[in-house]
Amino acid sequence: MPHRINPYDQALQQLDKAAELMDLDPTLHKIFSKPKRVLEVSIPVEMDNEDYEVFTGYRVQHNFNRGPTKGGIRYHPDVTLDEIKALAMWMTWKCAVVNIPYGGAKGGVICNPKKMSMKELENLTRRFTVEIMAMIGPESDIPAPDVYTTPQIMAWIMDTYSIAKGSRVLGVVTGKPLSAGGSHGREEATGRGTAITTLDACKHLKMGSEGLRLVVQGFGNAGSVTAKILDKAGFRVIATSDSQGGVYNSKGLDVAKLIAVKEQTGSVINYGDADRISNQALLELETDVLVPAALENAITEQNAARIKARVVAEAANGPTTVEADTILEDKGVFVVPDILANAGGVVVSYFEWVQGTQSFFWDEETVNEQLERVMHRSFADVLALHEERKVNMRMAALSLAISRVAEATMVRGIYP
Ligand code: NAD
Repeated sequence: MPHRINPYDQALQQLDKAAELMDLDPTLHKIFSKPKRVLEVSIPVEMDNEDYEVFTGYRVQHNFNRGPTKGGIRYHPDVTLDEIKALAMWMTWKCAVVNIPYGGAKGGVICNPKKMSMKELENLTRRFTVEIMAMIGPESDIPAPDVYTTPQIMAWIMDTYSIAKGSRVLGVVTGKPLSAGGSHGREEATGRGTAITTLDACKHLKMGSEGLRLVVQGFGNAGSVTAKILDKAGFRVIATSDSQGGVYNSKGLDVAKLIAVKEQTGSVINYGDADRISNQALLELETDVLVPAALENAITEQNAARIKARVVAEAANGPTTVEADTILEDKGVFVVPDILANAGGVVVSYFEWVQGTQSFFWDEETVNEQLERVMHRSFADVLALHEERKVNMRMAALSLAISRVAEATMVRGIYP
C-alpha cells in the first residue's frame, strides 16, 4: 500500500502557490491556512445485533466571511480529520469562485455504510446530527450529500434538527428528497455542472463535442450524471468504473444500461459487452476527456505523465495532486479544476436553501437555466484570468476565489 497523500497538505500547498502568485497579504494567508472551527464527536449507535458501536465524526468550518458555511457530509471508512479540513477549505474557494454567498465547511463519519442496514444508518445519522447541532443551522452551517450520503440521509438530518427546534427547518440541510423540501435538479446538479464546464472547455479548445471519447472514474452520483449528459451531447463514453473495478469498450458503452446495471447489481463491472479494466489503467486510456469522479489523489506524480486525455474535468474533490498538476500543465492537458467543475452541486444547494427559506419552489427548467447561467459565467471568469495572467486553470480559479474571500474579510475587518 503506497503512503497515503494527505489532502490537507495538498490544499495548503495550493493555497501557498496561489498566495504567492497573487501577492496575497501575509495576514490573510495565515488566516486562510487554518480552519475556523473543528469539532470531533463520538457517536454511539445501537446496531441491529443490539450491541453498541461508537463511531467518530467531524464537522469543520473553514471560513464564514462571505456567508454561512456550506459543505457535504461524507460516510467512508477512510475519512480522516485532515481530509475533512481540506474539503472544507476547498468548499470556501468553490463557493467564492461561483460567487454564491457562503463560506466553506465539511463533515464526515468514519464508517462503512455498505455494511450497515438502513436502521443503523438512520441511528448513526440522527445521533451525528445531535452531536454537531451546536454548529449547524440555516444561518450558520448547512450540510449536504457527499460520498455515500444520500437524499434520505439529508431528510433524517432535517427531521432530527427540526424536532429539536420545535418546527420544520428546511434550510438546515440541502440535497433533501423533493417530498421533504428538496429542489428539482439537485440530484443531477453536480454532474450537470461538470458537463457544462467540460463542454465550455471543449468549445474553448475547438474540439467540438460529437464523437469525443469520455472516460469517467467513479460511476456514482457525480460521475454517472456527467456521463449521461455528455453522452446526450454527442460524446462516446468508452470506460467507467466504481470501487469494484471498471469496464472498457472502445466502441462506446450504453449509459442507460450502465445506470441500470449499477442500480440492480451494485457495480458497473457486471455490464457485459465490454472488457474489464482496473481503476489505474482506466485513467491512462487514450481519450479526449477524462473525468475523475471518485476520491482524492487519483492523478499523482506516479501516473500523471501517462495521462493521455486532452481535457481533465474534475468532478471529484482533490483528484489531482500538486506535483501531478505541474506534469499535466507541462503536457498541455487542460484541467477544469474541481472548485469549478464540480460546483454545480453547491450552486443548486444554494437554490434549494433559497427556496426552502422562502417556501417558494421553482420548476426544474428554472433551476437548470439558473445553474447554466452561473456555470457559464464562472467558467468565463476563470478562463479570462487564465488567459490574462498566463496561469493554469486551477491557479486562475483559486486566485479568483481567494481574492473574493480576501475582499470580504478586509471589508468586514478582523475583529476586534
Ligand atoms: P457517490 O457515493 O455517489 O459515488 C462515488 C462513486 O465512486 C461510487 O460509484 C464508488 O463505487 C466509486 N468509488 C469509490 N472508490 C473508488 C475508487 N477507489 N476508484 C473508483 N471508483 C471509486 O459520491 P459522489 O457524490 O458522486 O462523489 C464523488 C466525488 O464527487 C467526490 O470526490 C465528491 O466529493 C465529489 N462531489 C460530489 C458532489 C455531490 O453533490 N454529490 C458535489 C461536489 C463534489
